[in-house]
Amino acid sequence: MQREFDLIVIGGGSGGVATARRAAQYGASVLLIEEGRLGGTCVNVGCVPKKVMWHAAELAREFADAPDYGFELNPPPAHDWSRLVARRENYIQRLNGIYGRNLEQAGVTLLAAQAHFLGAGRVAAGGEEYRAPHVLIATGGYPRWPKIPGAALGTDSDGFFALQQCPRRVAIVGSGYIAVELAGVLNALGADTTLLLRKSHVLKNFDAMLGEQLLNHLRGAGINVVENIQVAELSPAGDGVRAIFDDDSGQEAAQESAEYDCVIWAVGRDPNLHALNLEDAGVALTVSGHVQADAWQNTSVEGIYAVGDVTGRLELTPVAIAAGRRLADRLFGGQPDRRLDYANVPTVVFTHPPIGTVGLTEAQARTQYGDAAVTVYSSHFTALYYGVLEHKSGSAMKLVCVGEQQRVVGVHLIGEGADEMLQGFAVAVRMGATKADFDDTVAIHPTSAEEVVTMT
Ligand code: FAD
Ligand code: NDP
Repeated sequence: MQREFDLIVIGGGSGGVATARRAAQYGASVLLIEEGRLGGTCVNVGCVPKKVMWHAAELAREFADAPDYGFELNPPPAHDWSRLVARRENYIQRLNGIYGRNLEQAGVTLLAAQAHFLGAGRVAAGGEEYRAPHVLIATGGYPRWPKIPGAALGTDSDGFFALQQCPRRVAIVGSGYIAVELAGVLNALGADTTLLLRKSHVLKNFDAMLGEQLLNHLRGAGINVVENIQVAELSPAGDGVRAIFDDDSGQEAAQESAEYDCVIWAVGRDPNLHALNLEDAGVALTVSGHVQADAWQNTSVEGIYAVGDVTGRLELTPVAIAAGRRLADRLFGGQPDRRLDYANVPTVVFTHPPIGTVGLTEAQARTQYGDAAVTVYSSHFTALYYGVLEHKSGSAMKLVCVGEQQRVVGVHLIGEGADEMLQGFAVAVRMGATKADFDDTVAIHPTSAEEVVTMT
């Protein structure tokens, strides 16, 4: 097999695959080394299986609403978790195959092995040495576990996707994307679900309105949200696990311990660097232990680049893909100025209802531009879907505008359809649209989206 390439990509996840394919399209000879399943976190234990579970949870919610829409669902439909998991994993296997075929068709050489550096431009994998003037680190991340006694009795998001049945009682520890998404799915599919927050908020980096509204929705859906509580230890309890809470946990805890069938850690992710031997290549890390990459995805070593979660910047699939494709454009496509602008990246949290957000939070805008320059428009309403339902669920929206022109610098949405609504508004924010542009756009009726262009 060939040993010299134009580009070696380590990691066949979102960022690595995108970079390899784009570089090969420009005629570069590319070796992609992947130690696990093609598609990485997103395809195998991230976005894709998560979205399948989210759809299942949405269906469960709709079944509950169906009688008010005139349907007889008596007895209520039963759910077969293992059938769903089998169909989900089948779909993922098909995607793994598609990823492999796409890479082969693009002319990328694939190697199923673990890679490590021997030096700049020198990579070892499968007992052989490979060389290239350009090497990309795209090794992603893995779930972080707290360092407490018995932590191994819990599991993480990877373990959630391995569950063959729905746990009866589950506790999720964390307050970020994964904690709130998994809590929503498990609750909707029938688990007695507890969300353990070490502080009193969720989604701390989002506009405060979104976190506050989401907490109401989580509680309204029947999730037991406990604030200001820390798990100090896990111990075995029959077939399940006992969580012992820290003495310092606040009043809200009101208990010293609790038993669950399953405890899921969702407290952040760490960069996947353990096998890479970065010291031999001399690649510098940031204080958080991620690979240090500049605005052009260059690491501290010439000819070594990094994209995606391993860099610790906006850990999202489209970000890894966009950074990788632009890097390939720059290295092999004759576009020396091409790089990813990390501002105004839209993101969705797949809760029930979903959250969509792009741009600055209100607090960020006030810090950046000063209170006097910031105008905020808000809307709280009940979507038409709930008109005929006994139970109601509120939607909330916020536009953050700055300056005399009232340029829209932040759009924050929570409610039915927010996930599909956001992409187009993200284009508008990126293009510098003003509140007047939003107002001048004729509404689509009857939708929730029309509220975004009719706020006063
Ligand atoms: P990865 O996709 O993790 O790929 C890294 C690859 O490198 C892996 O396949 C790994 O096996 C391989 N590798 C590591 N070390 C080596 C080595 N030494 N040699 C060879 N191969 C190696 N993002 C969204 O945008 N939307 C979502 O809805 C979403 N949901 C998520 C849900 C969950 C539960 C999780 C955990 C993440 C989610 N994400 C979501 C985040 C998204 O999955 C990541 O941002 C994305 O996968 C990062 O891509 P990457 O290429 O940086 O890394
Ligand atoms: P996040 O960084 O989103 O959230 C983790 C949070 O958990 C922290 O912010 C912290 O919040 C809390 N936490 C940290 N340590 C502890 C602890 N010991 N005990 C209790 N709580 C703790 O990480 P996730 O693991 O949820 O997700 C990782 C990344 O994956 C996300 O940032 C996102 O980029 C990506 N992702 C994207 C999704 C999407 O696009 N829909 C879905 C899932 C993941 P606090 O300080 O407030 O307590």
